[in-house]
Amino acid sequence: MLIGILGAGQLGRMLALAGLPIGLRFRFLDPAEDAVAAHVGELIVGDFDDPAALARFARGLSVCTFEFENVPAAALRAVAAHCPVWPPVEALETGQDRLAEKTLFQRLGLSVHPFAPASTRDEFAAALRTVGLPAVSKTRRMGYDGKGQAVIRTPADADAAWEALGAVPLLVEALVPFDRELSVIGVRAQSGEHRAYPLVENVHERGILRLSRAPADVTPALQAAATAHSKAVMDALGYVGVLTIEFFDAAGTLLANEMAPRVHNSGHWTIEAARTSQFENHLRALADLPLGDTTPRGPSAMVNLIGACPPLADLLRIPGAHPHLYGKGPREGRKVGHVTITDDSATLARSTQAVLALATEHHTPLHPDANP
Ligand code: AMP
Repeated sequence: MLIGILGAGQLGRMLALAGLPIGLRFRFLDPAEDAVAAHVGELIVGDFDDPAALARFARGLSVCTFEFENVPAAALRAVAAHCPVWPPVEALETGQDRLAEKTLFQRLGLSVHPFAPASTRDEFAAALRTVGLPAVSKTRRMGYDGKGQAVIRTPADADAAWEALGAVPLLVEALVPFDRELSVIGVRAQSGEHRAYPLVENVHERGILRLSRAPADVTPALQAAATAHSKAVMDALGYVGVLTIEFFDAAGTLLANEMAPRVHNSGHWTIEAARTSQFENHLRALADLPLGDTTPRGPSAMVNLIGACPPLADLLRIPGAHPHLYGKGPREGRKVGHVTITDDSATLARSTQAVLALATEHHTPLHPDANP
């Protein structure tokens, strides 16, 4: 079975690494000649809006998916003329627009923090009055890893925030004093069967995920709520594959912040530390194969390597550490790898600290004003 993936970054690469053992083959489309999934499948270099490249990519595919949520919906529609495309285009379009996402969450009864859209300076002022201060304004589209965001703490910050993000449609949100960030990864089969991984606790630095701990220490009620939210969103979208929802835990209430219609960085721990990885489960859903067990094998942590990789030998010396190096060159703020740490709890804490120390020593600091 030949699986097409739009985008050939590390997520595409990890999808292929999960699918090769069960006999799946992969073809990628990506504008970058040095895209890192080329190591594990056929890479077609071309733009997502190039009809000739899309036609070459789509020829002979059994099914198509995407690993990058800013691919144009039109690219999916073009490929859909040749083979099934999962997750559905509607899920991609919803995930590309923060307003559509929050509106869907609200319609399905998930709790959300106050938000309001703004496309003009007047609407921006009105949105700030609606949500109150402090607030954060975000570009509605094409935002990721905290890019395209500005915090407004006092009325005097409003002009600078408006100028910084420019005249693009924005979503203004209340800045939430949350206790922690959690995410749930769900997988839904073509039959409608749904399974969720346990909630994961995520620590961000300047908008970029630095550390995940799985499973998060949560009550059964909170886990049940997250699983139900995941199922509700995926059912509503007629979803097939893996979808991630990120929440703020504010005094025990899950506030839905955003969703990613794809495998997710906060699920990388599942490669070593769950019975079936998120990558394999995504592929099983696409290929209409039975879903795999989402139970964790034990506690784990995942540390992102941002900017540059520490020496591999130093990482491999740490007990229970499983480094994944994506084969990308160093660049400020770029995710170049991750390390999953599995082991008994005492070693886990010590090894996680050791990986974090190495990752911090080698990472390229972000500009201090880059993100909230
Ligand atoms: P996002 O792109 O929405 O995931 O935002 C990136 C990160 O910025 C989040 O993971 C939070 O750490 C922080 N953040 C985003 N929105 C808010 C908010 N409304 N209140 C507090 N922190 C936020």
